[in-house]
Amino acid sequence: MAAQTGGNLWRASSTVSVEAPPLAADARADLVIIGGGFTGNAAALEAARRGASVVLLEAETVGHGGSGRNVGLVNAGLWLPPQDVIKLMGREPGLRLVDILAQAPALVWSLVDREEIECEATRNGTLHLAHAPSGFRDLAERHRQGVELGAPLQLLDAEETKRRTGSSAFHGSLFDPRAGTIQPLSYARGLAAAAIRAGAKLHGASKVTGVTHDGEGWQVTANGHVVKAKSLLLATNAYFNGIDLGTRPQFVKVGYSQFATAPMPEHLRKNILAGGEGCWDTAMVMSSFRIDRAGRMIVGGIGNEGGAGGPVHASWARRKLRQVYPQLADLPFEHAWHGHIAMTGDHVPKILRLGPSGLACFGYSGRGIGPGTVFGTRAAIALLEDRETELPVAPVEQHVERFVEPKALYYETGAVLTHAINPPPFS
Ligand SMILES: Cc1cc2nc3c(=O)[nH]c(=O)nc-3n(C[C@H](O)[C@H](O)[C@H](O)COP(=O)(O)OP(=O)(O)OC[C@H]3O[C@@H](n4cnc5c(N)ncnc54)[C@H](O)[C@@H]3O)c2cc1C
Repeated sequence: MAAQTGGNLWRASSTVSVEAPPLAADARADLVIIGGGFTGNAAALEAARRGASVVLLEAETVGHGGSGRNVGLVNAGLWLPPQDVIKLMGREPGLRLVDILAQAPALVWSLVDREEIECEATRNGTLHLAHAPSGFRDLAERHRQGVELGAPLQLLDAEETKRRTGSSAFHGSLFDPRAGTIQPLSYARGLAAAAIRAGAKLHGASKVTGVTHDGEGWQVTANGHVVKAKSLLLATNAYFNGIDLGTRPQFVKVGYSQFATAPMPEHLRKNILAGGEGCWDTAMVMSSFRIDRAGRMIVGGIGNEGGAGGPVHASWARRKLRQVYPQLADLPFEHAWHGHIAMTGDHVPKILRLGPSGLACFGYSGRGIGPGTVFGTRAAIALLEDRETELPVAPVEQHVERFVEPKALYYETGAVLTHAINPPPFS
């Protein structure tokens, strides 16, 4: 059965709106921000609350990029286990990043509370699900590393995992009580609305085409107008589009798709993720599962449902749902959508120095709700106060990603091949 699509569920269900008229005149500001996702909006909010004048330019609408399309898992940390981060970055910077990101969900929850953002925030943790015995061994190691660093993780056996998820498909799970889920577009819009209340000027339909520095400050061009500012933050992540810029962020673009069912009937809802935990699994081509406030089951996986492999991904979602939740096998999919993840070679986010008081934050590698909020907030402080020590990772002059096109093709082809055969089509 092909997925029926009402498009992006988050657009259909968000109750938060933002007034962001197109840039229609030249402007001056302390800080100009390009991109209206978690990173840009968090930066605009922090900067405006510190009394700075802020102009944010968004090519489309607030949350158009990954921020309005993602699964909504508010995780503590990156994809990588902490010891891998430490090995890659060195002990001190690695431990610092792990520590900062461990507190990222707390920052997200505090902004949701302070700004009263209506984003279906559910603070009941996440479950990293073992898809196979090898996955459970991986989780046991992640548990060991996390606990060693003070994380309040719990390793759950298959029985307890079944009790929480309502599925017997998993071999155990790792529960992280710091984490949770949000309606991501509402969170992005809520941050933007809060930034506007704090005095920031946000402009949608304002695609930046040129960025220059004349020795005194930045000139950013959009809609034929120029915004002049002392500081610049580029917050376009995977959606970097059409900006004439000397040093551009480099990353591999990876597709991820989601399929949301009609709301589950009440009698099934009681036993399926009744705690509202967000889930993803340990498979190399990973899958995610969560429910929204209306009780829709949202199945996600690597791959682009809008591309040539779309029918394969849609058929996979139906089989995956049937395999993990046979009780939902006949529930129709009402929404399907996809987005692009900005992956770096080592899966660690980057901060690129663009020039004097100019930074780009990108490469969250699929973990951008907590990290985007943290990087945006801290980048605003670093730029306004000329204090780079505030940044979660040291800025670099250049970041080179090799073979970005072949790697993107590799991810998509791998996802298509995996989804074509697993779960088996005729099981
Ligand atoms: C399908 C999917 C699932 C994901 N799931 C999760 C998850 O569960 N948990 C998690 O933590 N992370 C997840 N992520 C990652 C997360 O969504 C991103 O890392 C995060 O949204 C990045 O936020 P951002 O603000 O940096 O960039 P974005 O939200 O991508 O925003 C960039 C913005 O820049 C704008 N832009 C681009 N070019 C220009 C220009 N020339 N002028 C003006 N504006 C421009 C774009 O229109 C866009 O709105 C997922 C990502 C995807 C795609």
